[in-house]
Amino acid sequence: MFHQKTAAEIVAVGRQLVSKGLVSGTWGNISARIPGAGDFLITPSGVPYESLDAQDLVLLDPEGKVKKGTLRPSTETPLHIAIYKKRPDVLAIVHTHSPYASVFAVNRRELPPVLEEQAQLLGGTVRVAPYAPPGSKELADGAVTALEGRSAVILANHGVVGVGRSLKDALLICQVVEKGAQVFLLAQLSGKPHVLSERDVALLRRNFLEKYGQNPLSSACALKEQSRKDDDN
Ligand code: 13P
Ligand code: ZN
Repeated sequence: MFHQKTAAEIVAVGRQLVSKGLVSGTWGNISARIPGAGDFLITPSGVPYESLDAQDLVLLDPEGKVKKGTLRPSTETPLHIAIYKKRPDVLAIVHTHSPYASVFAVNRRELPPVLEEQAQLLGGTVRVAPYAPPGSKELADGAVTALEGRSAVILANHGVVGVGRSLKDALLICQVVEKGAQVFLLAQLSGKPHVLSERDVALLRRNFLEKYGQNPLSSACALKEQSRKDDDN
């Protein structure tokens, strides 16, 4: 099988999307760039994650031309292509239809940073891309714009897209969006939530990138690059 390691990781993330309640049925999709190439592997359209096999994945070139695989690639292929084109820092993409984030999607309301991990991982407020039909170029373009300087975007009346340096990161991003949405909604029901200030968000993010974990500087160098660019803008 082609690109065994990446394919196995995608299959494993698919199982986690189901077990963590981030998708129902066959919704959502996953892709990852092939290291050192412009190609990427993506999940096939409408195949249950429970029975998904590495052989089912589709290898596409940067324009979406099928290089390997027999199944039809995800309908959101244009979205994945558009993100990879615009964001060289992104190596993996996870798209979910998780319930609490969907509340923000249907209200078309952005998700503010109320938790430290949101500030650390997402880069600030998660914006909402305008509604457009699934699989459309319009959806892809709107999502790329709303994703600028962030690692997640909410798709109006649809779901969430998380991007990262690895499949693990992209999955974690989607989990943090879901948790942030859940906590923010519950906090509004039980009190008056405080949104972290821009200054606190910037501080949390910087400390996370430079000091958090065992080897923060190397693991975070791409993120740092991105945040420096954001600071310059
Ligand atoms: P696919 O099964 O074609 O990937 O579509 C699922 C989805 O979430 C579309 O937005
Ligand atoms: Zn979707």
